[in-house]
Amino acid sequence: ALLTSSLALAQGGQPLYKDPAQPVEKRVADLLARMTLEEKLGQMTQVAVSKLMSDGWGLGPLRGELLERYLVQRGIGSVLSGGGMGPVPNTPRAWAEMTNALQRAAVEKGRLGIPLLYGVDAVHGHNNVVGATLYPHNLGLAATWNPALVEQVARRVGQELRATGTLWNFAPVADLGRDPRWGRFYETFGEDPLLAGSLVAATVRGLQAGRVAATLKHFTGYGQPLGGTDRSPAFLAPRTLQEVWLPPFRAGLEAGALTVMANSGSLNGVPVHASRYLLTDVLRGQMGFKGVVISDWNDIDKLVGDHKAAAGFAEAVALSVNAGVDVYMVPMEVERYLQTLKELVEAGRIPRARVDEAAGRVLRLKFELGLFERPYAEVAEAEKVVEAQRPLAKQAALESVTLLENAASTLPLTNVRTLLVTGPAATDKTMQMGGWSIDWQGKEGAKAPGATVLEGLQKGAPQGVKVAYADPKDARALAAAVRASDAVVVALGEKPYAENEGNNLTGELPAEQYKLLRDLEAMGKPVVLVLLAGRPLAFPADAWLVPEAILMAYLPGSEAGSALADVLFGRHNPSGRLPFTWPKLFGQVPFTYDRYPDIYPKAEPLYPFGYGLSYTDFTYRLQAARATATAVEVDVEVRNTGKRAGSDVVQLYTRFPPLGLLAPRERLVAFAKVNLEPGQTRTLKLTAPLDRFALVPGDVFSLELPRVLPGRYVLRVGEQTVGVEVR
Ligand code: BGC
Repeated sequence: ALLTSSLALAQGGQPLYKDPAQPVEKRVADLLARMTLEEKLGQMTQVAVSKLMSDGWGLGPLRGELLERYLVQRGIGSVLSGGGMGPVPNTPRAWAEMTNALQRAAVEKGRLGIPLLYGVDAVHGHNNVVGATLYPHNLGLAATWNPALVEQVARRVGQELRATGTLWNFAPVADLGRDPRWGRFYETFGEDPLLAGSLVAATVRGLQAGRVAATLKHFTGYGQPLGGTDRSPAFLAPRTLQEVWLPPFRAGLEAGALTVMANSGSLNGVPVHASRYLLTDVLRGQMGFKGVVISDWNDIDKLVGDHKAAAGFAEAVALSVNAGVDVYMVPMEVERYLQTLKELVEAGRIPRARVDEAAGRVLRLKFELGLFERPYAEVAEAEKVVEAQRPLAKQAALESVTLLENAASTLPLTNVRTLLVTGPAATDKTMQMGGWSIDWQGKEGAKAPGATVLEGLQKGAPQGVKVAYADPKDARALAAAVRASDAVVVALGEKPYAENEGNNLTGELPAEQYKLLRDLEAMGKPVVLVLLAGRPLAFPADAWLVPEAILMAYLPGSEAGSALADVLFGRHNPSGRLPFTWPKLFGQVPFTYDRYPDIYPKAEPLYPFGYGLSYTDFTYRLQAARATATAVEVDVEVRNTGKRAGSDVVQLYTRFPPLGLLAPRERLVAFAKVNLEPGQTRTLKLTAPLDRFALVPGDVFSLELPRVLPGRYVLRVGEQTVGVEVR
C-alpha cells in the first residue's frame, strides 16, 4: 500500500499505466515504478512454450501449474515457439486458443496484469500454423525486385499473426546472402545491400502496419561465417561492415523496426552477445536504435560452453546484459537465469538502471503494440484470415521465377502435345516449401496448403496438352515415357533444411539427380530443368550438359505448381532476376558482383547478379545524369522490342573513380521494375540516394563512417554508361 499510494492514478481511479489516453512514456514510467526487481527481470526473460507444457523440453497440452509458476509467479514477459519446437496445437484456431490461454494467466492472474508477448519465426507466411499458405522464402522474394509486393506479403502475414495472438515476429533476416554454402542463404534477400535493404524495409512496414513487431536479425556479420558454415567465426573489416553489412539494418531501422536480434556467432574475435561495441555503441549510438534487443536462442549460455569466452554463467550474463541484450531468448535453465540476474544486480555488477532500461523497453514495446488494450486473439477471426492468401502467394511465386537458359525459344511450351514431368522435386512438396515449414527442418512441410509441381502442371496445362509423369527411379518406364513425349520437364532440387543442417560446402545436389539429368539429355528430347533450391547449385563438369531451358524457382512455397504452369505454358512472362552471383565453381565463393577489382582476372560467374531472361527483349537508352544534394538522378528509356508484353528490372550501377583506396568493381545504386507492351517505350527517372556512393575513407583500420568522396562516377544500365560529377 505504501508503495502504490504515491503512484499516480488516472481518471476513474485506475492506475495510470492502464489508461490508454496517457502518453506511452508516462505509462512505462508509472508501471516500472510499481514493479519489484524480480518482476522486471521476468520481463527480460523469454521462455519456450514447451517449458509450459512439460518440465523439460517436451511438448503436450499447456499445464496449469507451469503457467502459474512461470507466467504468474516469475512474471515471465514473453513466450516463443522457436523453429525447433513447433507446438502441438497448430491449427489457426488451436493456436489462437493457446495464445489466449497464456494471455489469460498473465493478464488475469499476474499481480500487475502485464500482458505477454508471443513470438515466432514467421519467415515465409505464418509457417508454424497448419493451414497457413506458405509464401516463397526471402531469396525468391528478392528475385522479384518488387518491394511493393513484398510489403503486401508482409502485411498479410502480419494480419495472420495478429489474428492468432502472435505479436512478435523474428523476421526479417537483414543479413546478406554472400556465401551460398551457408545453410541460411535462402532466408536472406540475397547479396546486395540496396536490394536487401529495400525488401527488409518493406517487410518491416508490412508487418508493423498490423501492429506486429518485426525483428531485424541477426545483428551483425552473421551472414559471412568463415568457411561458409553456420555460426563459425566471422571476420569483417570495419569498412566492409559499414558499407555492406549495416545498410540493410539501417534500412530496417529507418522503416521503424521495433526489435533487433543479436548474432549468435562472433565477429572479429568477439562473440556478438558480449560486444558492447556492436550492441550499444554501433546499434544505438551510431544507428539510433531505441527498441528491444533480444538474444538468439540460448545464446548467453553459449558464451560459456560454445564460445568458451566466459568462465561461468554469471560472467556470461553480466557480459551480455551489460553489452546490451535486453531479453534473453530461452535460457537453458530459467530459474538459474533469474537467480543469477538478481545476484548480479544485488552485487552491483549489473546496474539497476540497466534493468530499468531493459524492462522499460519491453514494456514500451507492449504499449506500442496495443497489447494492454487488446491482449486477446479473435479466435473466430483467426481461421478466416489464415485462409485466402493463395492469390498473393501465387503472384509472389510468379514474379520470383527466373529464366536462366532458353535455347531456341524452347519456352514457353507452345508446340507440345505430350509433356513428361519427372524428377524428385515434382512430387515432393517438402522440396518446394524448404525449411521453417510447419517444423524447423521442414520435414512436415507437405502438410501446408498447395499442390505439388506435377499437380500444378496437370491442372494448369492448356486444352489438348497431356501431362504425363514417370517415376525417376523406374529407368525403363522413364525411357518409354520420354520416347512418348514431345518435351520433358525435370524438377530437381534440395531437400528442406534449416540453419547448421543446411550447410553445403560443394553446392551439389545428390549424385542421382545429376545422373537423371544426364540420362534425360541423352535421349534427345528438349529438356526443361526446373530448380527448387535455396541457393545457386554447382554442376559437376560431367553433369553440365546444358539443358535447353532452365528455370530457377527458389523455394516457392504453396503456389509452386500453379506458378510454374503459368510460366511454362506462357501465360506469364518470367521477370525474376538473380539476387546473387551464381558461381561457375564453388571454389570461387565468396564471390559477389561488388568485390574489389581482381589483379588476376577471375573466371566469370555462371550467371551474374541481376541476371534473368524474358520471353521478350528490352533495350535501354541512358540520358544525362545529374547530382543533387541528396541523390543522383538519371532518366532511362526502356523499350520492349519483342513480341510479348513483359516486365523488366532496370538496374542502375555505379563505378567509382580512383580514390586512393579500393572500391567495389560496381555497386547497385537504384532499380525499378517496369511492365511494357510489345513495342512500348517508357522513360523512367531513377533516383540513386547519395549514400549509395559512399565509402569509408582512411587507412586500413579506419573506423570512420562512409561518406561520398568527390569525383567523376560512371553510371551503367545494361551496356549503356554515362558519367556524372559528384561532389
Ligand atoms: C535462429 C533464429 C531464430 C531462433 C528462434 C535460432 O536458432 O538463429 O533466427 O529466431 O532460433 O527460433
